[in-house]
Amino acid sequence: MYEIFADLHVHIGRSENGKPIKITAARSLNFANIAKECADRKGINVVGIIDCASPYVIEDIEKFLKSGEAYELKDGGIIYKDKVCILLGSEVETSEKGRNGKKGSAHNICFFPHLEDIKRFSNEMSNHIKNITLSTQRSDLSGYELIDIVEKYNGILIPAHIFTPFKSYYGNCTDRLEDIFKEKYDKIFAVELGLSSDTFLADTISELENKTFLTNSDAHSLPKIAREYNKMQVEDISFKEIVKALKNEDGRKILANYGLDPKLGKYHRTYCDDCEKTIETKEPVERCPMCKGTNVTFGVFDRIELIKDKINTQSPKNRPPYIYQIPLGFIPGVGGKTIEKLLNTFETEMNILHKLNQDDIEAVVGEKVAINIVKAREGKMEVHSGGGGNYGTVK
Ligand SMILES: [Zn+2]
Ligand SMILES: [Zn+2]
Repeated sequence: MYEIFADLHVHIGRSENGKPIKITAARSLNFANIAKECADRKGINVVGIIDCASPYVIEDIEKFLKSGEAYELKDGGIIYKDKVCILLGSEVETSEKGRNGKKGSAHNICFFPHLEDIKRFSNEMSNHIKNITLSTQRSDLSGYELIDIVEKYNGILIPAHIFTPFKSYYGNCTDRLEDIFKEKYDKIFAVELGLSSDTFLADTISELENKTFLTNSDAHSLPKIAREYNKMQVEDISFKEIVKALKNEDGRKILANYGLDPKLGKYHRTYCDDCEKTIETKEPVERCPMCKGTNVTFGVFDRIELIKDKINTQSPKNRPPYIYQIPLGFIPGVGGKTIEKLLNTFETEMNILHKLNQDDIEAVVGEKVAINIVKAREGKMEVHSGGGGNYGTVK
């Protein structure tokens, strides 16, 4: 067994010939560049690319395989340079009958072992999605229906960023995942926490006790890959091994979740869209205490406060540790040039954030920046909550 790092939620901006896939994501974010970034700069061993059901991306994958730079594994996944395993995924928006009869939508990340499987999935989904070439389009299916289609093509379904206000199960559709998946709830073995929550918050909900927690980046650009990631114990890198780790089978497991301090996420606290301010009251409120208006975007923290059902909010014994990390880009005094300098010397952000000592960092970027990086690593920085689509800040 050995330890690997995995980030299972990375988008594609454009196909290699420039066709838009996810419009809000960077142009340089294409299939081949993601593989290279993970291998050369991020030190990520398994990456889930979740726009692979787009026929334009499928073309790119076929070209990539033909080039000889990568090959498909029998156990599922694509191996690049013998360093990175790429999992072929698709993020699907489902339509749910939400709370109080209101319509809700939720995101799901689905992974498939082989290119052939996701091709067939894509083909079937084109009956349920208006434009299958684009990322994360709304489908006319519920999660309850989608999971059957995913399993038909040998895939797995993971509810994505489960607490975010607009596009998630808890944020937008339901108080209980079990009400959505009903007797199929056992088929859900992992959920993605999202940037604005963490293990401690999620473990206040009893129905999540037996589910594996994933911390993924949801990257819309190359530098943001691995701003959240998972350390896993596996025998090898392949689709099959990762599924085992998510199911906690045969000694495969998640060893640790590395994630943002949830305060740094874009939707941690409720936000007044009129006052343009985060509302940091102790109890969740539906009205802005400043202007008394109700034009607010509910926060992840606030939502969890409302739906939590555990009195003893300790995590179950087998829950891996959640390790806060503050990505370089959030640290005061660390701009693009400094990051470039650091990466040129120390190769990966992971080295810089977790391994190097202050002296090594100081030698490259000076004392002030080095102190900040180490302080951030030790959780000694003051963090102000994000909300309403604005990231939190570090002071
Ligand atoms: Zn999403
Ligand atoms: Zn207000």
